[in-house]
Amino acid sequence: MDHFCLKNGELHAEDVALATIAEAVGTPVYVYSRATLERHLQVFREGLVGAGLGDPLIAYSVKANPNGALLAVLAKQGAGADVVSAGELLRAVAAGIPAEKIVFSGVGKTAAEMRIALEHGIYQFNLESEPEAEMLSAIASEMGKVANVAYRINPDVDALTHAKISTGKAENKFGIPYESSLVAYAALAKMPALRIQGVDVHIGSQLTTLAPFEAAFTRLGVLIGQLRDAGHTIETADLGGGLGVPYDPSEPLPPSPAEYGAMVQRVTAGWNVRLLFEPGRVIAGNAGVLLSQVIRVKQGATTPFVIVDAAMNDLVRPAMYEAWHDIRAVRPRNSQIEASVVGPICETGDTFATGRTMDAVEAGDLIAFATAGAYGANMATTYNSRPLVPEVLVSGDKWAVVRARPPIEALIAGDSIPDWLE
Ligand SMILES: *Cc1c(COP(=O)(O)O)cnc(C)c1O
Repeated sequence: MDHFCLKNGELHAEDVALATIAEAVGTPVYVYSRATLERHLQVFREGLVGAGLGDPLIAYSVKANPNGALLAVLAKQGAGADVVSAGELLRAVAAGIPAEKIVFSGVGKTAAEMRIALEHGIYQFNLESEPEAEMLSAIASEMGKVANVAYRINPDVDALTHAKISTGKAENKFGIPYESSLVAYAALAKMPALRIQGVDVHIGSQLTTLAPFEAAFTRLGVLIGQLRDAGHTIETADLGGGLGVPYDPSEPLPPSPAEYGAMVQRVTAGWNVRLLFEPGRVIAGNAGVLLSQVIRVKQGATTPFVIVDAAMNDLVRPAMYEAWHDIRAVRPRNSQIEASVVGPICETGDTFATGRTMDAVEAGDLIAFATAGAYGANMATTYNSRPLVPEVLVSGDKWAVVRARPPIEALIAGDSIPDWLE
């Protein structure tokens, strides 16, 4: 459920007409709903707590949407953070998320990033290889600190999602192979300045069925028993993120947080650990839209092209993952057309929808790409010398720009021409 609804025939974010924001800020622009964001975190938490899972750490995956205002909203609701770079870590801390609620994931943590995370005293490092563990051990020793660690286990489970966001198959770069876990933990236990805290798994994103989660968590449960038998203390199990959101209304709904929680409860009963979760998309996805204006409609060989002022540089998911975003007119005319929706960028990949039956629109109309709150603004680039897309946060009848559109001059000024070219 979200708070982007028609009121008096016009699409609103909570109590603010999207047209008001478009007029003041210009388009394209991302618009987020605070109420939706808070609700999603609450529903996710209730799905776990309601299933009897105690007081888990919900570490919001910052990479889904790292805007400081969104992080501040989630921080106030008690969320922790799952970060994959020092930049994300510093953003999370700046937004008020305490270090003791931060976990650090990723295969390529650098020495500099490890130092920053150790300085802050984060809750847990999710390690992904033995060389990484050795590096962290050496740095922590040198700093006189102890790092709490878990290995990310690659359970060799197919998440049944898009190949580019599937992370739990043996051939993926993520985690340590399930079969070598016992050997890897034995080596970990001997490394100075590391304290084994738990285990971790994250098999992919936009999962629309529970079976892959269940298969991965079941394997993790077996491993916890084996690790304890081998003398290791396992206090935490980080079950990652990945729960999908509805993008295409014609597709079956993904499992709800309550269904997910019930499955987790069943699989983890008796584990005797603190559970950690790293949801990203399910928190932020439906809390944002990308608002855009139709530049013109051009006749095509089959269907018309609706050319809009947003492009693949602003929202890359359709070009990168063949993703579907629902497209709605901000002031629907109560008629429909079949059209392809494209941006101005000089690539055929700059296509948001092909042969889509959608609200009829004309030049000058506003449209909203739904479910754009996660992996949207944050993956934007300046390709085709288009300034980074701005972001707005709505709360009730209030709204504010939470990241401004940089002027094109800033883009130009960012380059420098060496003297020796003159
Ligand atoms: C991306 C990522 C997540 C979040 O995935 P969602 O599908 O957005 O929930 C969680 N954990 C790790 C390690 C990730 O890389």
